[in-house]
Amino acid sequence: MTDARTDELAAGLATVRARVEAACASAGRAPRDVTLVVVTKTYPASDVLRLADLGVRDIGENRHPEAAEKAQACADAGAGDLTWHFVGAVQTNKAAAVAAYASCVHSVDRVRLVRALGKGAVRAGREVGCLVQVSLDPPSAAGRSGVAPDGVEEVAAAVAGTEGLRLRGVMAIAPLGADPAPAFARLADVAAGLRGDHPGADVVSAGMTGDLEQAVAAGATHLRVGRAILGERPSDG
Ligand SMILES: *Cc1c(COP(=O)(O)O)cnc(C)c1O
Repeated sequence: MTDARTDELAAGLATVRARVEAACASAGRAPRDVTLVVVTKTYPASDVLRLADLGVRDIGENRHPEAAEKAQACADAGAGDLTWHFVGAVQTNKAAAVAAYASCVHSVDRVRLVRALGKGAVRAGREVGCLVQVSLDPPSAAGRSGVAPDGVEEVAAAVAGTEGLRLRGVMAIAPLGADPAPAFARLADVAAGLRGDHPGADVVSAGMTGDLEQAVAAGATHLRVGRAILGERPSDG
C-alpha cells in the first residue's frame, strides 16, 4: 500500500527515529537497544498495515476489543508477524481475551489481573510478557493507574510465579504537567531494584511523543509513541 497516508506515516517515523537516534547519541546509548512501539490506538488497521510495510513490528494499543479487531484484521491481511503491546488499563474480565493476542501487557498493576492474564495465556497456549506499571505520581494524585514503587515487588512476584506469564520489567507514564526527568530517574531505580530479584526483567517502558528524549536519557528500553507518527488523535484514546 503506497499512498499519501503512507508518505505521512513514513515522514512521522523518520522524524521520531531521528529523535531517538539523537537522544541515544547524547546518552551514549546504541539505538538498537531502544525499541520503538508505535501506538496506533484510535487509528484504523489500514494504518497498522502501512506501518508494517514501513518496517514497524511493534504495535501498541490501549483498548479491548479495538486491539483484538485490529490484530485480527492485520493477521487476515497477511501481517501476522506483528508484536502487539497492550499499553492501556485492563479490566480483569477482559484480561483473558487480551492474553490471546497481546505479546506484552505493559499495564499490569494488581495481583488479580495477573491471575486473570495467566489463565487466559494458558488457555490460549501462549506466553504473555508482563510489565509492572509503576505510578510515579505523588500518593495524593487520584485516578492515575499503576502500583506505587513499594508495591512493585508483590505484583512482580505474582507474575513470576504464574504459569503462562513472563516478567519482563516495568512501565510508567510521566506525571502530567511535571518535569519527566526525575520521574524517569525514579523508574530507573525501581527497575534496578526489580532486576536484583528478577535478572531477566530488563525492560523499561517509558517515553511518549512529549518526553521520549528524557526517557532515553534515563535508560528506557521501550518507547511508546503515537501522535508524533500518526498525528493528533481527534478524541484522545
Ligand atoms: C496513547 C499512549 C501512548 C502514546 O502517546 P502519544 O502522546 O500519542 O505518543 C503511550 N503510552 C500509553 C499508555 C498511551 O495510552
